[in-house]
Amino acid sequence: MTSDDISPIRKQYLEIKRQYPDAILFFRLGDFYETFDQDAEIAARELDIVLTSRSVAKGTRIPMAGIPHHAAENYLARLIEKGFHVAICEQIGDQPVKGIFPRQVTRVVTPGTVIEPGLLPGDANNYLTCVVLGDPIETNELPAGAFQHAGIAYVDITTGEFAVTELNNPDILAAVRAELVRLSPAEILFPDGQKLTDSLPGHLTPWTAWRFEPGRCQEVILQHFEAASLDGFGLRGMTLGMRAAGGILQYLQETQPVALKLLTSLNTYSTSEFMTLDAATRRNLELTETLRTGALKGSLLGVLDHTVTPMGKRLLVQWVSKPLLSVERINQRLDGVMLLHANGMLRAEIRSALKPLNDLERLTNRVMAGTAQPRDLVAIRATLEQLPTLRERLPENETSLSELLLNFNLCTDELQLLQSALDDEPPATLQNVGVIRPGFSAELDGVVERSRHSREWIANLENVERERTGIKSLKVGYNKVFGYYIEITHSNTNLAPAEYIRKQTLVNAERYITPEMKEYETLVLNAEERIREIETRLFRELCVSLSDTARQLLATARVLAELDVLASLAETAAHGGYIRPEVVSEDILEVEGGRHPVVEQTLSGERFVPNDISFESGERVRIITGPNMSGKSTYLRQAALITLMAQMGSFVPAAAARIGVVDRIFTRIGAQDEIHAGQSTFMVEMVETANILHHATPRSLLILDEIGRGTSTYDGVSIAWAVVEYIHNHPRLRAKTLFATHYHELTQLADLLPGVRNYNVAVSEADGKVVFLHKIVAGGADRSYGIHVGQLAGLPRPVVQRANEILHQLEASSGKAVRLSPVAARQLALFPETNPLLDEIKSMDINALSPIEALNKLYEWQRKYLEE
Ligand code: ADP
Repeated sequence: MTSDDISPIRKQYLEIKRQYPDAILFFRLGDFYETFDQDAEIAARELDIVLTSRSVAKGTRIPMAGIPHHAAENYLARLIEKGFHVAICEQIGDQPVKGIFPRQVTRVVTPGTVIEPGLLPGDANNYLTCVVLGDPIETNELPAGAFQHAGIAYVDITTGEFAVTELNNPDILAAVRAELVRLSPAEILFPDGQKLTDSLPGHLTPWTAWRFEPGRCQEVILQHFEAASLDGFGLRGMTLGMRAAGGILQYLQETQPVALKLLTSLNTYSTSEFMTLDAATRRNLELTETLRTGALKGSLLGVLDHTVTPMGKRLLVQWVSKPLLSVERINQRLDGVMLLHANGMLRAEIRSALKPLNDLERLTNRVMAGTAQPRDLVAIRATLEQLPTLRERLPENETSLSELLLNFNLCTDELQLLQSALDDEPPATLQNVGVIRPGFSAELDGVVERSRHSREWIANLENVERERTGIKSLKVGYNKVFGYYIEITHSNTNLAPAEYIRKQTLVNAERYITPEMKEYETLVLNAEERIREIETRLFRELCVSLSDTARQLLATARVLAELDVLASLAETAAHGGYIRPEVVSEDILEVEGGRHPVVEQTLSGERFVPNDISFESGERVRIITGPNMSGKSTYLRQAALITLMAQMGSFVPAAAARIGVVDRIFTRIGAQDEIHAGQSTFMVEMVETANILHHATPRSLLILDEIGRGTSTYDGVSIAWAVVEYIHNHPRLRAKTLFATHYHELTQLADLLPGVRNYNVAVSEADGKVVFLHKIVAGGADRSYGIHVGQLAGLPRPVVQRANEILHQLEASSGKAVRLSPVAARQLALFPETNPLLDEIKSMDINALSPIEALNKLYEWQRKYLEE
């Protein structure tokens, strides 16, 4: 087949496809987006649509699969979700050139560059991030602990947020990962060939490395912001950050050029403004979702979120994910919460005024991106109309709100423009007329008026002509072929006036037209098209004027979000009986009567037992012993959550709290939920512990729950012991540490190391009944009560009794290899000297068993031995 045989449209397709080899090309043909060749096979498979074929040259057919263009959003969403990029190629202009329409790719949709509301999560940011690592340094040249560098830029093109940072860290990949986990981006762009670690959150998009060259990136940024120097952006000396930001700008130029307009500023930020929270800690503390189910309910966010707008919800997620380090800024937020906490009436008014507001941030950005529809402007107008009411409610002289008030622009010009230009109830889209309010444009009103007049003229025509001609049966009708006509029966045709032009003869009537009638007809028929054109133009102009002042709209949106979050935190505090923590820069942690914000809500009927978490001076490591299920984990997590809440600017569930800001919270919790592919639970536990020991500082808070549990008792005790010693003794560490364990041996550490204290969970044993009091008290626990937990879980009474007997024997022999005395006769030869069951029981670590595991074990034995 020579190239001459190929149809022109196929040539055009191939030409365009060549430029987008990595994307699925949606090629617009009439009302469809068609995909061809391999793209068609992918689309058919992934979207479950029919794979057909199309002839492109004599005897040659290629695979083709199409989707209707009006339903494209849904199909796009599915492809993007599966990690594909889609290039959208549209028909340009209304005239074919040499037989075919010119076509052009107008955008490439990728996970980080979507703007369609249907494809976006409503209450989370949709970030596109870019990571540029510093030049790789040969590991043997790099002295241990030396810092490596990386630049990270991120953008949310639906809100216009664009920011960049640089990281310096001995373990740069871990630091990059931590920052990406915080951002939770939809897409991660990076120079082709650059080695990133596995398991980063977000879709990875490698891109040709020359795009990230420093000179090129500098130029792109300067051009985009029409700036002469990078200094104003705080980018001086941040080459990697600049390359990351420049990479993002170029990527948007290629994929979503309209979005560039939204990026009106670039902020540099330092990760040292925020508390660092690694991925494991975010998960373990269940900040935004629960470990087991990933649900919002049961997470800290689930408790804190009483926001009433989508903007507020997004901001709250940011606050929870990025607790602050600056005492001053934390107190600023706390001041705001306190005001709204103290004044319930004000809070209720503000929240009810916020509630009806629409997502001003996203709407404004749709306007700027040129994708707004009339209903979007209606939503903006409705929101702006409510602002004065809200503004009036805010007290004028409150210093805690003064910064908010300063940025609270009522956007009256924008509102007036929208009120005067937009009809009260315009149609949802520009397909229908009636978008622009009468009186706004003389030109539009003129066309509307003429159209109305023409309609009336035609409507009256029948009566007028009947009168004029005296023909009572004269009718005015309409059909598609002739348009309007006048119909007269044959018997009356002699009365037809001279200017009637005969058009058609029927069996018993003649049809006529008149030149005047045709003129009105043209007016009527063209008017709608004309009105639509004018309205579309005026609408676009309206969007452009709004875009020009978008900065104000966005600043106001931000104020609304912040008010919403402050009110939400105040609401939570009021409901939950929280108090304002005293946040200070000294190295202290003093919480009186602290509670776990989530667990206290889930306890039905029972009362949550508050506990103090107050480190004495010199205390570094607090070892908490106590039976399973007594509340150790809860205590540990509540210490972390209370600290985190204080640093995000929230009130805390406690009677009183003084909290010195911590730079990081580390957690090593639980073993059940982290079975990574190929790594044993114990391996994961040790990797995380190693990470903590490498990165913690004296200003960190460490939460270590049952370290060493995943291995044999002796190994476990030894590792736990050594870890405590290391934290306590290493000058770089000495972090405040809460260490829960069921190894009683560790309580000896308090006698050996001055900064170690023992605590345990109080247990009451009145009348032979064991009750866990959930109260943390000074001193080490003396017993583990594992058998009691088994009893609670419903183990049969004889088993519990026998277990107690064995325990006593074991205790009497203080852990040495022991020959247990045989059980009472009715239990037969359950424990002969060489019984495998006995061996198994001996080797079992009862403390390490969950009640359900114990129960399963018993069932297993019952099956195996009693039925023999
Ligand atoms: P452990 O870590 O000691 O095994 P957990 O912290 O998991 O125990 O607590 C077990 C259960 O005890 C929790 O699910 C909760 O229902 C209850 N609990 C824990 N702490 C308290 C408390 N302070 N007040 C009331 N109930 C509590």
